[in-house]
Amino acid sequence: MNCADVAIAGAGIIGLTTALELMAAGCSVTVFDQSEAMSEASRAAAGMLAAGDPENPAELRELSCLSLTLYSEFLAHVESLSGKSTPVRTTRTVQGVHHLPPGAKALTATELQALAPGTNTGGCSFLLLEERSFDAWDLAESLPAAARSAGIELRERTAVQSVRGGKSDVELVTAAGTFSAGAFLNATGAWAPILDHALPVVPRKGHLLTAELPGEVQMHCVLRSPSVYVVPRGGIRYTIGSTVEDVGFDRTVDPLRIQELFSRAMVLWSPLREANIAETWVGFRPGSEDGLPIIDRTSENCWVATGHFRNGILLGPGTGRVLSQWMTGRQPEIDLSPFRCGRFALSPASS
Ligand SMILES: Cc1cc2nc3c(=O)[nH]c(=O)nc-3n(C[C@H](O)[C@H](O)[C@H](O)COP(=O)(O)OP(=O)(O)OC[C@H]3O[C@@H](n4cnc5c(N)ncnc54)[C@H](O)[C@@H]3O)c2cc1C
Repeated sequence: MNCADVAIAGAGIIGLTTALELMAAGCSVTVFDQSEAMSEASRAAAGMLAAGDPENPAELRELSCLSLTLYSEFLAHVESLSGKSTPVRTTRTVQGVHHLPPGAKALTATELQALAPGTNTGGCSFLLLEERSFDAWDLAESLPAAARSAGIELRERTAVQSVRGGKSDVELVTAAGTFSAGAFLNATGAWAPILDHALPVVPRKGHLLTAELPGEVQMHCVLRSPSVYVVPRGGIRYTIGSTVEDVGFDRTVDPLRIQELFSRAMVLWSPLREANIAETWVGFRPGSEDGLPIIDRTSENCWVATGHFRNGILLGPGTGRVLSQWMTGRQPEIDLSPFRCGRFALSPASS
């Protein structure tokens, strides 16, 4: 069939969470990906649900809260559909800050060493946050399988090349021919401006690495400072991130960047001096001009959801929920005005 109620370009976390919500609302959904589902930013991520990070913009609060309240149910739903689990790996984060937020209580040195033995403060105060993390590679396995099992048609290695919105439907030109749908969502992450030229989004590259630290598990929480984070991923594995670089879609893994990141992590958490680098990779965060997501209706039957930058894993379920409400004629349950295109000088028009 070359038609569906809704066509989505991009099978990352944003496209797939929205597709699941739309299916649950009774729509038929086809999702196109130019590569493989969950193979880009959504797989590269460190997997922290960092809603309480004091460095997050205030505008993210409501969407973060919605997403967090949906998360347990979302992971359970994905598991029941796919038969694959996405275990929560950590439930607490110790975060270093240069300036304590008003009303926050810093950990004492004894408390800090009990939670993350071997941490060097580097002049920071440390806060304890109730915050979960999981391994994005687990979700990259389970979410596409869940989508298929829910009845979503997933067309991988099929790029959407252009979109033409009419009065009552939308026509897509794809690498495998034309496709018509009642509505279209551009969820192509850092690639979103290729389909919608006016969107002010660029790829913001991040390097990450996983280090293996043999012996007993030495830390059970995420340790985050202003310059680096260490995320336990089960057993002897710790993921360390990350850089933020403006170099376009350059997929090179730069050994110097990796070494710099690893050195910063060893300064923060000294047990890593005994660790070895096991894996390295890069990913492209979709970064908008003001660092906030772009969630909007761009013409009669076309929507966009991109720009989730450093928090797209956190914001996925909430974004899927509000978009599906909007796309099926319901009132989104939170105020989306901070994320509308109108805040930029240019308003996008689908091409
Ligand atoms: C290094 C790093 C660490 C991160 N850590 C965290 C974290 O700890 N917590 C957190 O919440 N977030 C984190 N993020 C951010 C998060 O990963 C992103 O915000 C999120 O994955 C964006 O999801 P997306 O679906 O918009 O984009 P993507 O996952 O990039 O998906 C977009 C998809 O669109 C496809 N596509 C592109 N063009 C086309 C086309 N024309 N037709 C069809 N398909 C197309 C691509 O192949 C891709 O699969 C991190 C990101 C990086 C890079």
